[in-house]
Amino acid sequence: MSCRACTSEPVISRRYSGEQLCHRHFVSAVEKVVQRELRKQVAALETNGSRLQRVAVALSGGKDSTVALHLVQEWASARRLEMVALAVDEGIAGYRSSALKCARSCCDKLGVELRVSSYHDLIGMGLDEMLKVQPPAGSACSPCGILRRRALNFAARDAGVDALVLGHNLDDCAQTVLMNHTRGDVARLQRMAPHLHRQPGMVPRLLPLRRIPEQEVYLLALLQEWEFHDGDCPHAAKAQRNLFRELLLQLEHAQPGTRYGLLRGMDRLRESLTSPQPLLNCPTCGEPAGGEGECQFCRQFGAFAV
Ligand code: SF4
Ligand SMILES: [Zn+2]
Ligand SMILES: [Zn+2]
Repeated sequence: MSCRACTSEPVISRRYSGEQLCHRHFVSAVEKVVQRELRKQVAALETNGSRLQRVAVALSGGKDSTVALHLVQEWASARRLEMVALAVDEGIAGYRSSALKCARSCCDKLGVELRVSSYHDLIGMGLDEMLKVQPPAGSACSPCGILRRRALNFAARDAGVDALVLGHNLDDCAQTVLMNHTRGDVARLQRMAPHLHRQPGMVPRLLPLRRIPEQEVYLLALLQEWEFHDGDCPHAAKAQRNLFRELLLQLEHAQPGTRYGLLRGMDRLRESLTSPQPLLNCPTCGEPAGGEGECQFCRQFGAFAV
């Protein structure tokens, strides 16, 4: 069997579409999907606000954000947008420092400015130390997620960007949709990135890779020989999301296209809902909060806030 578009040897066989693609046509197929997503997401944001002039990419040094950085850089330079990369040092021994090295080297090669902030800037300590001082009831990912969202939002605001690009792939997005459905959390589904509306104090997120399966992101990074950090966080094994990852892989295997179906469902649901309510401000720190009362950061880390 040869590539769908030429006679070359395929590098991938997509079960969900039945296509075989060679290196060249695989790369251009992914680029097309990413460009289309960016166009759509940016158009929605620009309809509800001013034109984008400066964007940031959240860069961990892993495959997803590295691929996002490369693809977004091409798009941003074609649109003459300014671009900056934002990394967050969580303070996880033996993991983050090597990923940050990759992030730095990737930015140096592309000539993109890299700004690094840390959990230490927010709470005076890194994640490892925080887990000892205040052990979480569940996995470390829940407090880590709250700190990362805050660190990135602060960094994006400081960098003066109009939007923040995250490297979430199709699997990540479909897992989040499924998790929110199982909790019946429609408000959170509505607030999920990509953000179609701007909220005061919150830099809107763009997700250019939301239609690219994780395996394809990985394959693209390998084929393009883009340097990335290929290791797992030591806390990843206990993440609650793992169960949803397993379930989705089984569903996708039995019924190819399930991940796209979940995304489509979320998009349709959001279209049929009214615009999200403006986020309320936390009475303690003044930052946007998900609901009434204190934000999650103040509830969990108020005692340590720097
Ligand atoms: S796996 Fe969990 S603890 Fe580790 S960096 Fe990701 S969210 Fe944080
Ligand atoms: Zn081909
Ligand atoms: Zn707060």
